[in-house]
Amino acid sequence: MRDKIIEEIKKADTIMIAGHIMPDGDDISSVSSLTYGLTMYGKKTVGIIDDEIPEYLEEFKFVKKYIRDFDCAKKNPSDLIIIVDASSPDRVGRVQELFEYRRVIVIDHHATNTNFGNINWIDPSYASTAQMVKEVLEGLDVKYNSELATMNLTGIATDTGFFRYSNTDQKVFRDAADLIEKGAELSKITNSVLENKPIENLLLLKDVIDEMEFYNDNKIVISHVKLDMIEKYNILPKDIPPFVGDLRSLKGVEVAVMFNEHEKGVFHVSMRSKEWFDVSKIAFEMGGGGHPRAAGFSSDKPLEELKNITLLKIKEVFEKK
Ligand code: 5GP
Ligand code: MN
Ligand code: MN
Repeated sequence: MRDKIIEEIKKADTIMIAGHIMPDGDDISSVSSLTYGLTMYGKKTVGIIDDEIPEYLEEFKFVKKYIRDFDCAKKNPSDLIIIVDASSPDRVGRVQELFEYRRVIVIDHHATNTNFGNINWIDPSYASTAQMVKEVLEGLDVKYNSELATMNLTGIATDTGFFRYSNTDQKVFRDAADLIEKGAELSKITNSVLENKPIENLLLLKDVIDEMEFYNDNKIVISHVKLDMIEKYNILPKDIPPFVGDLRSLKGVEVAVMFNEHEKGVFHVSMRSKEWFDVSKIAFEMGGGGHPRAAGFSSDKPLEELKNITLLKIKEVFEKK
């Protein structure tokens, strides 16, 4: 499949590279690496994410350099669209309005991917889409500099929780080592993502801890962030920190769920598991997607009802175990 994609890239003049809404590190890394790499290869490119970029990712200079908004997508006609790290068309926001007119390639590592492109390279064995992008650029013989290497490493580092999650396999270390050899600066990535928290985030965590609820002998933990909770600290919805990781880190917890209100009455539900629970199944049933240990969905149901439905589904799985 990679070779087929390389052929399509060679044929195209202008290429749009688009990522998913609610961008994360793998998303910005995959979009900017492919955009920059294909520019080096001699293509006209435009990188698009149809959503606001969270503050901690704006730190990366390459975001401002290579990622544009949807207005730019409309202004830049392209004969090929490459979608990265997005498992379904709704995840690319308004970019899906352009699908009708152009050829669409999807490169992604989510098992829940709905194969919505004309050509789909979907492989859940990759820990990050950034590694698949690396293979495309290598197939085109793009010569990496330190900037491209750092950009590309960002997605591998963030999607593996900085080489801690169960998706951290030999290939992750091989790809990371190769990028470091090419000049990637891992400490720049860790400093921007991990060592850069506004104090307000910790204050909000205090409130999230106050709202925690435990179920099934403390194996399930849930909490929420409502708009009034972030307004108090002047935090924007796009900058709600990933507290679901803090909840999962608790001793004995198998499943952690955060209900984050992103706009009035609309919650993004972030789910994480530790050892065996497949949260992607529940996310998929609820109209979202993701990976076995990290998945999510959005809903406009009232918070209490949403919590009840989600908990019921989680508890069912525990009962069947
Ligand atoms: P997070 O909880 O950090 O938002 O997302 C965890 C994982 O689930 C990521 O891999 C993300 O791509 C996926 N995910 C989160 N929300 C959605 C959603 O609404 N739809 C789909 N298809 N995937 C999602
Ligand atoms: Mn992602
Ligand atoms: Mn990813």
